[in-house]
Amino acid sequence: MEHFETRAVRTQAGRSGHREHSVPLYLTSSFVFDSAEQGRALFADEVEGNIYSRFSNPNTSEFIDKMAALERCEDGFAFATGMASIFTGFGALLKSGDHVLASRSLFGSSHQLLTKVLPKWGITHTYVDAAAPERWEEALRPETRMVFIETPSNPGLELIDLAWLGALTKKRGLILAVDNCFATPYLQTPAEHGADLVMHSATKFIDGQGRVLGGVIVGRKELINEIRFFARHTGPAMSPFNAWVLSKSLETLAVRMDRHCSNALALAQALEKEPGIDSVKYPFLPSHPQYALAKRQMRQGGGVVTFTVSGGYERAKRFIDAVTMLSSTANLGDARSTVTHPASTTHSKLTDEERARVAITPGLIRVSAGLEHIDDILADIRQALRRSS
Ligand SMILES: *Cc1c(COP(=O)(O)O)cnc(C)c1O
Repeated sequence: MEHFETRAVRTQAGRSGHREHSVPLYLTSSFVFDSAEQGRALFADEVEGNIYSRFSNPNTSEFIDKMAALERCEDGFAFATGMASIFTGFGALLKSGDHVLASRSLFGSSHQLLTKVLPKWGITHTYVDAAAPERWEEALRPETRMVFIETPSNPGLELIDLAWLGALTKKRGLILAVDNCFATPYLQTPAEHGADLVMHSATKFIDGQGRVLGGVIVGRKELINEIRFFARHTGPAMSPFNAWVLSKSLETLAVRMDRHCSNALALAQALEKEPGIDSVKYPFLPSHPQYALAKRQMRQGGGVVTFTVSGGYERAKRFIDAVTMLSSTANLGDARSTVTHPASTTHSKLTDEERARVAITPGLIRVSAGLEHIDDILADIRQALRRSS
């Protein structure tokens, strides 16, 4: 199946004896053995099959197969949340003494994981500024084992050249893990540029309707085998129900992303002309410092726009309270447009200095453009800008 849209719709679990057209929900904790011998062979990995839904389930397998097909990866594992997938990626593949090189601008909990949790097990890290390629090679150490990045980053919308970094990590024998949550496989496929693992919070654009939590890692088979072993015995698996929801969500990912992206671009262009705004950031705006890279690397600019209101935190608070249709929530990638103040919510655990280094200013607003009509999104933002000025 050549095209993305077709893979998203037609990669699906086989039919049961009922010949259903749409894949049913397999709410079962375990699976029965036809014989004692079959039970033994399944546990000995001599035959393939479901044993227990912490290990695998037809619904989670279908979701993993779809994600692997869309990301052009060999294999994968699905998790209860995006953070469970990122934690498992680190936990399964790193050991005490290992070092991780990470892009500085990361999702808030990923930042906490690297700075507060992994050091407990002797795993260290160095942050590198996304837009300073010369620093990456300098920051490598003999004990560096993994490079972990987000592109575009949350909420900084900084980009990293995947082809360049993929070549560097290959040359140095490092694992390149990419959190592809903001772009989704519809906009970019990091594995085709040399990423070994691609991680997702399926909670965002993959679900697309703010209903379920989920995470997934897809990537090279031998790494996924280690991840599967670790996950099987530590228990972060996705629930079959969430996998069933998310497999249906993927069927509409391409059409939804087209609308998220066209709404986000139109919003970014309109905001550049609005008074009372210091700056607007969006990968497909020519004013983005990495516009050329964005055009080369991404199919479209994504669903998230950020802007800084003049007047700092007080104005930002008034703006958030003045929106009437957009939802004030920490989530993104929803059919409903959402508005977030990162400095006081998603990235409030960072120190002032850490926030400044990733350009999270007190006046920064993050909008995740939803699927409403662009004129209604714009009207709400414009009236909120006026009322909060
Ligand atoms: C939300 C998010 C996560 C975490 O995902 P959860 O499903 O909330 O655990 C990780 N990375 C990025 C970029 C995110 O936006």
